[in-house]
Amino acid sequence: MNLGIEFVLYGILIIVALLPLYIYREKLFFSKKTFNGDFDTFVKDLKIHMQKYHPNINIDYSIIQKTKDEKNLEFREAFIVENVLEQFFNFPYKKTTQKSVSRDKLWANYDEKSLSSSKLPSDWSQRKELAWRRDNRCCNRCGKELSNINESYINFVKDIKDKGSYSLENIIILCIDCNKVLNSTNPKNSIDSLVLKDKLLDLIKTK
Ligand SMILES: [Zn+2]
Repeated sequence: MNLGIEFVLYGILIIVALLPLYIYREKLFFSKKTFNGDFDTFVKDLKIHMQKYHPNINIDYSIIQKTKDEKNLEFREAFIVENVLEQFFNFPYKKTTQKSVSRDKLWANYDEKSLSSSKLPSDWSQRKELAWRRDNRCCNRCGKELSNINESYINFVKDIKDKGSYSLENIIILCIDCNKVLNSTNPKNSIDSLVLKDKLLDLIKTK
């Protein structure tokens, strides 16, 4: 009977002593496996997102290799997002005269109402819609699809305050973020306010 109790006690002691080791091993193995998988998924999702929503912006992904020694994956991913956002912001874009629309699609008084004025012409919504259709409902800078006209923003090749006109050739269709980029006076604040920033940070959170 005594031996039996001792046997049970030793047995319990051994189990208690070894248990943390097993848990630790499992945790180590488990975390290593998922973290690696998650990082690869993050990179894949990031590339898919940029290609799908901003196809005109060529991103250089060398930052992934450059951060390979960063042990904290969340930190590494945040660093990569920050770099991609900067590239999105700094991607060169030159405002150029936009495509014309054939005369038969225009209306009476079109030319007259195109003239530069501090007030938008009365046919403004018609012009905006025509420019949006002309550009296949896409942002002129990044190529983002703007399925709803309310998602599109206007910039002018030649600013109205510089006597630019309201003619279709002067109207640039942009997405919300590219409009922010073109109007930016403070790069850091502009990058922080990008809708794209929230989208890319969400890719980190989903792990
Ligand atoms: Zn855009």
